[in-house]
Amino acid sequence: MTARTSDIEKAAGVLRAGGLVALPTETVYGLGANAEDPAAVSRIFQVKGRPPSHPLIVHIGGAELLDDWVQDVPATARLLAEHFWPGPLTLVLRRGQRVPLEATGGLETVAVRVPDHPVALALLSAFGGGVTAPSANRFGQVSPTTADDVRAELGDAVDFVLDGGPCAVGVESTIVDATGETLTILRPGGVTREDLEAVLGCPLAVPATSRVRVPGQHPSHYAPRARVVLVEPEKVVAEAELAQELGHRVGVFLPAAFAGAEVKAHAVVAVPGSMAAYARGLYGFLRELDQRGCDLIVASLPVEEGLGLAIANRLRRAAGPRPTV
Ligand code: AMP
Ligand code: MG
Repeated sequence: MTARTSDIEKAAGVLRAGGLVALPTETVYGLGANAEDPAAVSRIFQVKGRPPSHPLIVHIGGAELLDDWVQDVPATARLLAEHFWPGPLTLVLRRGQRVPLEATGGLETVAVRVPDHPVALALLSAFGGGVTAPSANRFGQVSPTTADDVRAELGDAVDFVLDGGPCAVGVESTIVDATGETLTILRPGGVTREDLEAVLGCPLAVPATSRVRVPGQHPSHYAPRARVVLVEPEKVVAEAELAQELGHRVGVFLPAAFAGAEVKAHAVVAVPGSMAAYARGLYGFLRELDQRGCDLIVASLPVEEGLGLAIANRLRRAAGPRPTV
């Protein structure tokens, strides 16, 4: 925890005054506003360039506060909240009266979580309310995992940046829809499907869109400036060298199985063998290859178990078709 008590108090004051605070969480940095202030919430959408129909996550200070923000919590959702909070699990539940429609994109459901970061928890405690926050990046871009990433991305558009050091998990939270008869994973993330299933004692549905391999089905998101191409792990080196020969400035995500291989490319990132380290580093690697001037990134998907499911989901979406402007 690098932020001082005076920083926390200042940030809480900014939230009370209707301002925007970038805050560290264990997943990625968030762009936060008072969840109960519709004007402040609307500013988040302006700053991010995010369509107002995309709902945000409301961050609260503890599982015991859940019923202040939502209605009709099923027993299964409460079990998950008690087990995984604070932590990278977001629950979608029925919206409580305190949550304005601006924060939910007009939906009668709301996404809620308790972040597992001492600075975020100190801010929530000092502020006393809920903080609604998406990732602190422009819409569609790579999520920030350090305070410097936030400053580089948003500059003066944010009123205060709380520095809590680099994010420990590095990918966004797992989102579970708990509004229906059966629980569904809407987005894989920092809590693994296997861990959720172990606590629930039954399999969880993951919608086809998060597992499908056709990149055309995924609108671009989590995307660096460089185009991202996904190939089989054993083809990464050959594809990268071919593209480099054809005149691209190629950045390579070299799979751990090929560590130490010589690659004739512009820049090489050694992908960590541990999925936790890979998740922690993922967005930083994408930013690094952008900063080094790469126009093409060649990568492969990890095995889709544990945190590999979330990493593969982000890489697919980073490789998805870009909007034509
Ligand atoms: P981010 O922009 O990375 O903070 O992500 C917020 C995520 O939460 C988005 O993917 C939203 O689609 C999801 N989300 C928030 N609220 C809801 C909701 N009520 N129903 C479904 N998804 C939600
Ligand atoms: Mg985001």
